[in-house]
Amino acid sequence: MGVHSLRKRMVAGNWKMNGSLQSNRQLLDVVLPQTQLLSECDVLLCAPFVYLPQLQQAMEGTGFALGAQDVSVHAKGAYTGEVSGAMLADVGCRWVIVGHSERRQYHQESSAQVAAKVLAALGAGLTPIVCVGEQLADRQAGQAVCVVHDQLDPIKALGAQIVERVVLAYEPVWAIGTGLTATPQQAQDMHAQIRAFMGSDVVRILYGGSVKADNAAELFAMPDIDGALVGGASLDAQEFLRIVAA
Ligand code: PEP
Repeated sequence: MGVHSLRKRMVAGNWKMNGSLQSNRQLLDVVLPQTQLLSECDVLLCAPFVYLPQLQQAMEGTGFALGAQDVSVHAKGAYTGEVSGAMLADVGCRWVIVGHSERRQYHQESSAQVAAKVLAALGAGLTPIVCVGEQLADRQAGQAVCVVHDQLDPIKALGAQIVERVVLAYEPVWAIGTGLTATPQQAQDMHAQIRAFMGSDVVRILYGGSVKADNAAELFAMPDIDGALVGGASLDAQEFLRIVAA
């Protein structure tokens, strides 16, 4: 058995700021019965905070897993608008996305803050999915690897024992929500760089950026791509299930 097969595949849907009680119900009604997809793949749904209890209730006992899209660095107290890791665990989350490019871009999250969120998540018993990725200008300037290494540095500095407890997601910013996907080879090259930089054969590295049913299989065939973080396509139940099946 190769190392790749030791890293269980994972597909995580990132709903971003989308959904309603009614549309969530419709999507869950289609997705949750498909439990046969879970034998070889962890499948998680990362929903807006307010819908987490709805999803927890619907997902209970199915094997599908629940995730959030962000977590506070703080444990509790006077931090209006923030949601702690313990609160996420309390409503059934086992996973949380940290450092998504939209948080870095619109909320000025630094890589040091992302590392603090990794510790906050782990401290609450959640597994963080740490997103990294370069802008188009970085890639065009030949700086993509450098930028991604800089983003990973504070995570790596937490030490090997922490690194082995996180999931990484390589999401080139130019591919998120744009319909542009990194080629399987571009993604593989960066995943191999990330794996070497982090010094871990066991850490799972997801690819994210316009993953769809018709490009998922070729991405997943790459030896260092362990699954996907799926944004837009995770809002379409059939499309999402086809990605998981791939
Ligand atoms: C994401 O939001 O993490 C993402 C990859 O989005 P999309 O699949 O829509 O590009």
